Amino acid sequence: MGLIVQKYGGTSVGDLDRIRNVARRVIETVKAGHQVAVVVSAMAGETDELVALAHGAGGDTPLAREYDALLSTGEQKTIALLAMTISQLGQPAQSFNGRQAGIRTDAAHLRARIENIDTANLREVLDAGVVAVIAGFQGFDDGGNITTLGRGGSDTTAVAVAAALRADACEIYTDVAGIYTADPNLVPSARKLDRISYDEMLELSSLGAKVLQIRSAGFAMRYSVPLHVRSSFDDAEGTWVVSEEEVMEQLLVSGVTYNRKEAKIRVRGVKDQPGIAAKIFSPISGAGIVVDMIVQNLSQDGTTDLTFTVEKACYAQAIEIAQRVANEIGAAAVEGDENIVKVSIVGLGMKDHAGVASKMFQVLADEGINIQLITTSEIKVSVLIDEKYAELAVRTLHDAFIGDGAAEPAQES
Ligand code: ASP
Ligand code: MG
Repeated sequence: MGLIVQKYGGTSVGDLDRIRNVARRVIETVKAGHQVAVVVSAMAGETDELVALAHGAGGDTPLAREYDALLSTGEQKTIALLAMTISQLGQPAQSFNGRQAGIRTDAAHLRARIENIDTANLREVLDAGVVAVIAGFQGFDDGGNITTLGRGGSDTTAVAVAAALRADACEIYTDVAGIYTADPNLVPSARKLDRISYDEMLELSSLGAKVLQIRSAGFAMRYSVPLHVRSSFDDAEGTWVVSEEEVMEQLLVSGVTYNRKEAKIRVRGVKDQPGIAAKIFSPISGAGIVVDMIVQNLSQDGTTDLTFTVEKACYAQAIEIAQRVANEIGAAAVEGDENIVKVSIVGLGMKDHAGVASKMFQVLADEGINIQLITTSEIKVSVLIDEKYAELAVRTLHDAFIGDGAAEPAQES
């Protein structure tokens, strides 16, 4: 007998039939002898509607405190509906909003971080054989204000609750069968992975593979919570996210992913002298804009070019700042390009295997795809290319490194 935390996303609780389906699954888990805490998202589309309402009432920047008060109602609806449905089927269940579940966060509305979870209330109910149904995405700060954790935040709630309760597993139920080697809509031969490491999952989340909120992957890694990402529409095993030691088959490349949400900015003809990069990037980070890739060209005649990427949502603001700084430091010009895509390969096997990056470059070169920027980490290589090649690049890289469902484990280097 163990304790299982299950999380169901918006599609899985999209209507009453689906909520009944979730209730049956929860009850099966109880019947198998487990204590069950369930974390749910708002019904599909609900949070988007609440966001639109908030802007209707509060303009471009609605009051953050009230924005969170409104957005948190989506999840409140689902916890009540699910608790009623489970009880109706004969299994006692009780709903918990963020505060009732003891989920205390910092005061950063819209992107609050969980600071700690007082599990006393949850424990008491679970120990009495009652299913705890917890609202995802929300908590409360020191002042008792309702906070939300950022879009997709229910994943983080689930992992944090699992860590706090020292659950035996955290099951993330979603509308896909698990973590794939690439987006199956783009690459028909993409296959579901049985296991993947926390590090790989973290890279994939940050690169735009939208299966898990990135913060939840970080949480799971820090607290070694075994995660099982699986479909709520069938009983098949999904993908286990576990520690590196538990991943038997260390793939050279376990995922090919892409992110269209970045834009490129180049500051041309910058004097190549100390302090210039700081002059450009300080005001940008000061405005809360996150810079991802950065490349500085070799200098010629004492000047150089600085190229970097930012999220498309911050592009206009970043260009404006770059333009202002460029004038101040006497740079030649500022150019921008929104028609780009970042394509990445991720795999634990890269750690002790040479030549992965160069093979990636060759594969792209063979397709006539020009690489604009490159960044790497121990287990990742990312390239920036023209957006029109996104699909071609992802497909050919998947073919080259993973192939037709027969991914090869990494060989010793
Ligand atoms: N309902 C919230 C959202 O749509 C949180 C979540 O679904 O995880 O972002
Ligand atoms: Mg989600």
